[in-house]
Amino acid sequence: MRRNTAQRMAIEKVFNQHERPLGVDEVLSYGRHLVDSLNQATVYRNLKILVDEGLLKRISHPSLGTLYERTGKAHHHLFHCRECNRVFELSGCALKEDGAAPGGFVLEGHEVFLFGVCPSCGGMPR
Ligand SMILES: [Zn+2]
Ligand SMILES: [Zn+2]
Repeated sequence: MRRNTAQRMAIEKVFNQHERPLGVDEVLSYGRHLVDSLNQATVYRNLKILVDEGLLKRISHPSLGTLYERTGKAHHHLFHCRECNRVFELSGCALKEDGAAPGGFVLEGHEVFLFGVCPSCGGMPR
């Protein structure tokens, strides 16, 4: 029981240290630095618990599959770097929902997945 708690705390800490959505493999490799007993099964189990408790949510990314993200964030979009395969959060929204859907459609929200090259992989210098 105590060990499970340590694993769970390690996973929560990984998400606190990385302000971006993470895949299972990333959670596992970062989490192993904190608790070396972590393996893929324990990561999956604890991620499920954290989702059930509302601390994390799942995102179905079109090219990366399931990612996990902390809940309670303001609306943002995700940017996938095709060089390093990391997904970044871009705060704010440039999409105008007014007029985005033709008459008769009731728009309730949107999800946008951007892709390209991040600054550390040789994107444009800031
Ligand atoms: Zn990159
Ligand atoms: Zn938006």
